[in-house]
Amino acid sequence: MSATRPQPRDDLRALEGYHSPQVDVDVRLNTNESPYAPPAAFVERWVDALREVDWNRYPDRAATGLRSALGTFLGQPPARLVCGNGSNEILQTLLLTYGGAGRRALMFEPTYALHAQIARGTGTGIVAGERRPDYAIDPDDAIAAIDRERPAVVFVCSPNNPTGTVESRETVEALARAASDAGAVLVVDEAYGEFAPWSALELVSEDLPLAVVRTYSKVWSLAGVRLGFAVAPTWMVAQLEKVMLPYNLSVPTQVAGTIALEFAADMQQRVASLVEERGRLFAALAATDGIDVCPSGANFLLFRVASDAHEVWKRMLAHDVLVRDFSSWPRIEGCLRVTVGTPEENDAFLAALGEVLPEVV
Ligand SMILES: *Cc1c(COP(=O)(O)O)cnc(C)c1O
Repeated sequence: MSATRPQPRDDLRALEGYHSPQVDVDVRLNTNESPYAPPAAFVERWVDALREVDWNRYPDRAATGLRSALGTFLGQPPARLVCGNGSNEILQTLLLTYGGAGRRALMFEPTYALHAQIARGTGTGIVAGERRPDYAIDPDDAIAAIDRERPAVVFVCSPNNPTGTVESRETVEALARAASDAGAVLVVDEAYGEFAPWSALELVSEDLPLAVVRTYSKVWSLAGVRLGFAVAPTWMVAQLEKVMLPYNLSVPTQVAGTIALEFAADMQQRVASLVEERGRLFAALAATDGIDVCPSGANFLLFRVASDAHEVWKRMLAHDVLVRDFSSWPRIEGCLRVTVGTPEENDAFLAALGEVLPEVV
């Protein structure tokens, strides 16, 4: 036996993997995917297109077709777009490019766990900023933190996962200016941007160090494909492209992303019905004794349970309803998060909650 096994980097020793348990139940409302399959016509068009591909050749490195279609869809020049295998790859590329050893990323907790997780993986230090009691970012506190901590990257998740909080345009503009003054990149993670009343996409310009990150995983019903992108100034995109692995996006992924855009009307209809269901769920939760629900601009709702939240989560699971358990997370103790599902799934969730709550003290 060899004397020593190779050890990971010292700074990775304490790293735990990403934990979001996937349990096989009827009603899966724990990972914020779309409850709807993509349109059948989309799958047909995609599979047809794949019959014509030269599979022995590498894919188009620059993803020209996808970026041009996406640029047209978003009203942005293709040179401002960079695409990856899910927005997580984009976040990793941003950190590999602008973070790394000796640099730090500022994030406002509680927020998307992968911002810190990917920062650790890239050797980037982490600075945790706080939020107001309503989970919005206090712009004055945030600007003070940027001035004091001099991070290389600042993360703002809006709508914020797991709270659903949407930051105002004023806050994002103020943070972008503060980041600019400090020589930092502001990353606005808009994985749920389509469900929100406004988007930071309209702020992207050559003069601001702002990257807005989006994904096909949620509204486009394509979590299984793994496709995400950033809209950023061309000079930032040029840097990110140097770091991204060549040929990172497979042909099926590029084709899926392009064809999906032809089904934008279906997507918008889904967003509208999920937003309507979100309103119905919010009203039902708000009217329930022992529940305190956060306003949300996303396709999920965070709610605090007055009784033992973990026990509620467990008993919901016994009713075949899986939600996300945040009961032991700092700053959101006692909270659960439910993804907005189909009307039937939401009914099942409310019925299970109605049965479980009186049982748990
Ligand atoms: C779901 C989610 C993502 C999506 O990641 P993908 O890699 O695109 O699937 C990114 N950011 C946040 C905040 C999310 O909740």
